[in-house]
Amino acid sequence: MMNQEDLFKKIIAHSKEYGFVFPSSEIYDGLSAVYDYGQNGVALKLNIREYWWKAMTMLHSNIVGIDSAIFMHPTIWKASGHVGAFNDPLIDNKDSKKRYRADVLVEDYILKIEDKVKKEVAKAEKRFGESFDKEQFIATNGRVVEYNKTIREIQIRLAQVQNDNDLPAFKALIEELQIACPVSGTRNWTDVRQFNLMFDTKLGSLSDDANKIYLRPETAQGIFVNYSNVAKTSRLRIPFGIAQIGKAFRNEIVARQFIFRMREFEQMEMQFFIKPGQEDTWFEYWKATRIAWHKNLGIDASKYRFHDHEKLAHYATAATDIEFEFPFGFKEVEGIHSRSDFDLKQHQEFSGKKLQYFDNEENASYIPYVVETSIGLDRMFLLILSAAYEEETIENEGKSDIRVVLKIPAPLAPVKAAIMPLVKKDGLPEKAKEILRSLAFDFNCQYDEKDSIGKRYRRQDAIGTPYCITVDHDTLTTNTVTIRDRDTMLQERISIDTLAEVIDKKVSMKTLLKNIDANK
Ligand code: ATP
Repeated sequence: MMNQEDLFKKIIAHSKEYGFVFPSSEIYDGLSAVYDYGQNGVALKLNIREYWWKAMTMLHSNIVGIDSAIFMHPTIWKASGHVGAFNDPLIDNKDSKKRYRADVLVEDYILKIEDKVKKEVAKAEKRFGESFDKEQFIATNGRVVEYNKTIREIQIRLAQVQNDNDLPAFKALIEELQIACPVSGTRNWTDVRQFNLMFDTKLGSLSDDANKIYLRPETAQGIFVNYSNVAKTSRLRIPFGIAQIGKAFRNEIVARQFIFRMREFEQMEMQFFIKPGQEDTWFEYWKATRIAWHKNLGIDASKYRFHDHEKLAHYATAATDIEFEFPFGFKEVEGIHSRSDFDLKQHQEFSGKKLQYFDNEENASYIPYVVETSIGLDRMFLLILSAAYEEETIENEGKSDIRVVLKIPAPLAPVKAAIMPLVKKDGLPEKAKEILRSLAFDFNCQYDEKDSIGKRYRRQDAIGTPYCITVDHDTLTTNTVTIRDRDTMLQERISIDTLAEVIDKKVSMKTLLKNIDANK
């Protein structure tokens, strides 16, 4: 097994080398926590987007999409609470001059204890072999019980200082846990301060504070302020949802972990408007629906878990995260929040416009409640790469060799098939290009005639292409090609006439979407 830290470094290097993710403005030495997507990255991102968008809007007849502007009236952010409360607690180490998020320092401390638990479990698993009962071990082993108790206590303390917004108590907690700066190794900390995460800029030519506007820190508010427009023009009745995919901006205090925490990123959010009192039912519904969407991708289910919030954001009445085990530990990829009528009520008050819903059945008006699902497109992208990256040892003409392969779920793979003439002569390139043309209407394909077939296979493995199709001399007489499967590396000879069907079977977004319900 590869060390997880090494794995993460390899994923970052691989992303760059194979055109998935580039540091932004690289020839100017980059811009911290901003990234660009390359030729393969953009295709993978588009496919993730399509999977989410179709699952939300096409598979739910009561969900529609919108695309609202990034710039919005500044009062929106007062109403939403972001001007007053969208803060992160920050702390500096006086020796290294490094800045940290105080909550992340504590969370990282917890992760270290979680690692110790994991090590104990792994050790015991080795010792007991087949007869090992993991749950029982975790419940009864003295050391593990003690570790888990400590974790729980720290989590409760952390939630408390955050909920009370008690900054001195926050610092006291960090001191009590004897957390040291990872860079200087000292515990010489400043006080904890609050830092607002919103970027601002000026609208128009007057550099006046009255013209200050914000870059949206979430897409959700664009949905809330269009609630009435959609309700009136769509004829949807409650319960109904509005979905949106778009950029969001946060001036994150610490930019680390590649595209996990960016200052400019993309969110896929859906606000589901419901009758007050039904929020628990819909919260459960969306938890189940969203985890099914993830599991349907066939990624190891043990890498997913729910994490209920102890600390609730200023708008939430209940919240859970879907966490994934990234190479740097379990971290949030998606949030599901029960937001009550907080947002619409605030907008009604601040705008002076009625944002009520008339319920025919009840013969009464009310402000709808909202359950939202919010996933970061870039984090989902990193999730896919983390789950997909594999180094396999294979035998090649008597020698063992390492094959790097991205086992990306086939419907999300950037390139679906690569067409390769065995040699660059005898009419094989022409034939290969003819096949490419016939497939290009349905699938994103690549043509490759350079280097040995083995090298070409490796290049496609490295970007996760599910199929390689080789055109050889027999193709010209038998109308057949060989098709090689990325995961099994097995090759089969099939008729050109069946190619599209064979590829489609594996890479079809439609089939992927059809299977979602089976995971519920
Ligand atoms: P975190 O605690 O990691 O900062 P959050 O709880 O503030 O995240 P939300 O406000 O719930 O995140 O945002 C919803 C989703 O948007 C997150 O689950 C995540 O996938 C994504 N997201 C949030 N911040 C970032 C960021 N800086 N970079 C990339 N994705 C982000």
